[in-house]
Amino acid sequence: MVTSNAPPYPDLFRFDNTYARDLQGFYVPWTPTAVPAPHLLRINESLAYDLDIDAGALNSDYGARIFSGSEVPGGATPLAQAYAGHQFGGFAPQLGDGRAVLLGEVLDRRGQRRDIALKGSGRTAFSRGGDGKAAVGPMLREYLISEAMHALGIPTTRVLAVVKTGEQVIRERPLPGAVLARVAASHVRVGTFQFFAARGERDKLRMLADYVIARHDPQLKGLEDRYLGLLRAVTERQASLIAQWMCVGFIHGVMNTDNMALSGETIDYGPCAFMEGFNPATVFSSIDRGGRYAYGNQPEIAAWNLARFAETLLPLIDPKSPERSIQLATEVIQRFPELYGKYWLKGMRAKLGLTTANEDDLDLASEWLALLEQQRTDYTLAWRRLADAATGDIGPLASLFAKSKSLPSWLDRWRRRTAKESTSPENRQQAMRLVNPIYIPRNQRVEEALSAASDRGDLSLFEQLLAAITRPFEERPGLEHYTEPASPEFTEGYQTFCGT
Ligand code: AMP
Ligand code: MG
Repeated sequence: MVTSNAPPYPDLFRFDNTYARDLQGFYVPWTPTAVPAPHLLRINESLAYDLDIDAGALNSDYGARIFSGSEVPGGATPLAQAYAGHQFGGFAPQLGDGRAVLLGEVLDRRGQRRDIALKGSGRTAFSRGGDGKAAVGPMLREYLISEAMHALGIPTTRVLAVVKTGEQVIRERPLPGAVLARVAASHVRVGTFQFFAARGERDKLRMLADYVIARHDPQLKGLEDRYLGLLRAVTERQASLIAQWMCVGFIHGVMNTDNMALSGETIDYGPCAFMEGFNPATVFSSIDRGGRYAYGNQPEIAAWNLARFAETLLPLIDPKSPERSIQLATEVIQRFPELYGKYWLKGMRAKLGLTTANEDDLDLASEWLALLEQQRTDYTLAWRRLADAATGDIGPLASLFAKSKSLPSWLDRWRRRTAKESTSPENRQQAMRLVNPIYIPRNQRVEEALSAASDRGDLSLFEQLLAAITRPFEERPGLEHYTEPASPEFTEGYQTFCGT
């Protein structure tokens, strides 16, 4: 019998790898580790479509091999990126891709360049004490939460595939191993700049900054003040991103500088979760003992991370005058609260059903949140039932506030405000339902789906939950159990673990 060793799809991805080509010295070429028995758990067909990659070809043994790292697809130049980072405030000068490998870049249907990387594909030069691996549960978790974010319209990396490896990874107990394929606008982080800044490698910093400008802010190309422009652009994207997180109650959980992407996408889904009862002090991560990355701290932490980014750019902003560089960079960072506030208020107005701006709107929103905080009302349901109340049916909303005497007076105030709008109540309700989701990946439902998949190899709950959260604004019969907050006992003991 004659067999061929040629890959079945030699040019499936049409890779064009600028990071490998233009940034030598910023990474270590690295081949992912083959796994014993690759088995595809899921291919993201709609993402494959966006990337103009044949989903049918991916949904195959070949797909299982390439997305597990067992075979390098044609045109890929696998590498592990170098980066540093502040972790919980302390600086680690060398982190890097300890369990990830960038395969390469593709142009999607809109002509946007996207990275395709593997996570959990074995040890690299940056692994330190880690095993370089990942488990089924956390990889499916990243799939679920990132798809929820995408469906909510929030910039995010996405998962193209999850493959079970057929080997066990050793954590607190042995778990089935997995590799995930991640698609990102790029994987350049604040920590990537910090790596070269900490080593005093000014030429490399400039190359990296010019690379990011070419990729994410091409309008700045060639301008004399382009590095300050880059700082402004990254600050703007983060202000917008964090405001969107806050509007849906998303808690990232590990906002270390190595987990902040310059593209403005949400990246590195570890111990993240959606808040249920409204409380700005909410923390889910078991490693965040001091509450540094609590829900309500996220805007301040983003500004802190951006200040660390600004520091790396100082030698480039005005190479002749450190004082002037500091002054210019400080002005940008100091504008963060105002920028963030602008995006947040824009989001809140939409959630409140307002299409015009009134100077009392900030106060109206704050008073509403204070009401929720008083009784730890479920954040997602409260907004959704407020949308229902836009046409007069306040019953379901009122039932969330059983003990509150302040709800009626706030509702009066909201009605007086909405009466100044030209929109009809029906249209307002429709608009509110398009920004206030009914389905989010609720913690209890996520954990149920993941343990069924991880412990019993049963993906049916995962698929059902995914179907609910990928159409988050469209209330459908039969999905009521996805709208309910977890039991207090569950929430009490709920913690998510990262890095597993
Ligand atoms: P994270 O907390 O996932 O953002 O990762 C922080 C750093 O730890 C990065 O440099 C990762 O590559 C590395 N890391 C996390 N998990 C592992 C692992 N299992 N093996 C090796 N490196 C890891
Ligand atoms: Mg990370």
